[in-house]
Amino acid sequence: MFKDHVLIIAEKPKAAQKIAYALAGSNVNRYKYRGIPYWVFVLNNQIYVVAPSAGHLFTLSTNIKGYPVFNYQWVPRWIENRKASFLKKFMDLMNFLCKNAVAYINACDYDIEGSVIGFLIIANFGNLKNAYRMKFSSLTSSEIRSAFRRLSPLDWNMIEAGLCRHELDWLWGINLSRALSHIISKAIGRRLVLSAGRVQSPTLNEAVRIISQRRLHVPEPLYYPKISLIIDGKTLIPEFVGKPFTNRMKLQNILTKIKHEPYAFVKSIDIRIKTLSPPHPFNLSDLQTEAYRLLKISPARSQKIAEDLYLDALISYPRTNSQKLPQSLDNAAIMKALSKIPKYADLVHTLIKETRGIFKPNNGLKEDPAHPAIYPTGIVPKQLSPIHEKLYDIIVRRYLATFSSPAKVRDIKITIEVHGLLFVLRSIDIITKGWIKYYPFINLGPVIPELTKVKKGMRLHIVKAQILTKYTSPPPPPTKLSLLKWMESVGIGTESTRAEIIEVLFKRQYLFNKGRGIDASDLGIAVTHLLADLFPQIIDVGLTRKFEEYMKLIREGRIRRETVVEEAKILIKRLIENIKKEERKAIETLAKYIKTDIVKNPCPICGRERQGKYFCIFHEKALTRLRESFSKWDSIGYNWQKYLEKIKNLKITGLWIKEVAEFLIKNGLSQT
Ligand code: ZN
Repeated sequence: MFKDHVLIIAEKPKAAQKIAYALAGSNVNRYKYRGIPYWVFVLNNQIYVVAPSAGHLFTLSTNIKGYPVFNYQWVPRWIENRKASFLKKFMDLMNFLCKNAVAYINACDYDIEGSVIGFLIIANFGNLKNAYRMKFSSLTSSEIRSAFRRLSPLDWNMIEAGLCRHELDWLWGINLSRALSHIISKAIGRRLVLSAGRVQSPTLNEAVRIISQRRLHVPEPLYYPKISLIIDGKTLIPEFVGKPFTNRMKLQNILTKIKHEPYAFVKSIDIRIKTLSPPHPFNLSDLQTEAYRLLKISPARSQKIAEDLYLDALISYPRTNSQKLPQSLDNAAIMKALSKIPKYADLVHTLIKETRGIFKPNNGLKEDPAHPAIYPTGIVPKQLSPIHEKLYDIIVRRYLATFSSPAKVRDIKITIEVHGLLFVLRSIDIITKGWIKYYPFINLGPVIPELTKVKKGMRLHIVKAQILTKYTSPPPPPTKLSLLKWMESVGIGTESTRAEIIEVLFKRQYLFNKGRGIDASDLGIAVTHLLADLFPQIIDVGLTRKFEEYMKLIREGRIRRETVVEEAKILIKRLIENIKKEERKAIETLAKYIKTDIVKNPCPICGRERQGKYFCIFHEKALTRLRESFSKWDSIGYNWQKYLEKIKNLKITGLWIKEVAEFLIKNGLSQT
């Protein structure tokens, strides 16, 4: 067997293979140990072995039952989790290859997770004294070779930050989840395993906040004038820009005037030439946004597809926050390579002509300490699935566009006055395409050539005038993307973990897809409210953000992991002790939010504990809202009964409002 070899640890089999071939070309031999492949080659009389992990081989665990619990250790994941039993073979492989090695190189993905994966393998099976880190942002041969020539010592700050994240997530997760499961299982009389967490719970809270607003929405009528007029033989409908009317009669009076004198006057014409800068290079979040907008795929899905493209060495590392391409990047070489792909040949040639071969990206402001923005490596893709192909196309085009020149558009805005009402007509046409040639995925608005014929003071003929009734609408439902953006905006989670945490909320059945958005289950709503009552700090983003800041400081070597973990333990201990003291109260509290065995006085609509005079906390709120909005309908001739019927039948009405309206109709409860 091998002896005195150097072991190179890769994060996944595909990456291991790429690394081996990049370093040794065809002089590499592939072996298998318990079915797992590894690669061996000799370079300058030294034997090298490249072996794959399969993500994390270790996880935190405890054998202590109950809560709070503060003792834990790293254990093999395959022992802890039955679904991870395939990892045993990878573990055996590492154990086997670490034994007689003289040195270890951690060549896992260059981020805190990759640093932790390699560190734990070397710490458990090898020797940290002879360990090195290989840093690269893409799996192209040239980058792997140059990373191999510039090995550094282990990146201790990143390892410490990574270990800290795992410990904090574990401590919060296990203690909150056990407390929550205990209380809810007791209250509903059967065993239920629930989860809560440092990042997951504030995110669930945000989703439930919006969903509750929607469920409590009472539509109120608003009236808009709608006119059709003729310009240069074409019928156009301008957009009303004033405040909508709450009083229909007032608007009706104006419409009568329009009928007698059906003319509009051009009040002003505003023509602007606008410059649209080229887009910034992609970071993960921007890529997820565009993938959602253009391909309708979830952030978790687009991340997975991008990771596949990275493992095929087609793009650089996608888990990055950076919107910058570094000066050191050889864009000319990438362009040359991309021009070999028939689909992009013409575009690349145009870009080279346009830029005269000087490639200056329009870098954004966001940065990442480990990686540049996402770029195509230029390697020609083979046999991509349709969705991989589409995402790859967006990445290539975005990369090309960022080097191009600004686009110029002509924005024509015509303001029209009709008996004191203001309307606007708009046309946007492109004068200079610039970067839009490369990245055409933008919606500018309609082009209406007739508008160029309009002059100030012109009289236009109105052919139709009517009243449009619209109802006030609730906020749009959350989506996976809007939650991801929210997490980013409040600074919780990391670009690699956010999409996955949202998926956890679905797996726990707290959230589910409904139509084009997300809705919450009774359980999700109950868990959120219970957490808000029992551990307001965990729902609040402030605490989570504070610990995210700490982890940044660890990464910069300015604070120690032990200090941060100790602070978290003290905080968790205090919280859990409080809950244990008030367990009975917590169980009773839960009955407010979900139907349980201990409900004494159930809400006639949903079975939750009654809080107000008639209903539970949610339906009581709905009743208050219904009463508050009645005046808006009363003033336009609806009596209480008619109002309830109308509200019940409107599609846009919130769920809890509908349920209360229906109940009131059936049971004849009066408005007071
Ligand atoms: Zn209720």
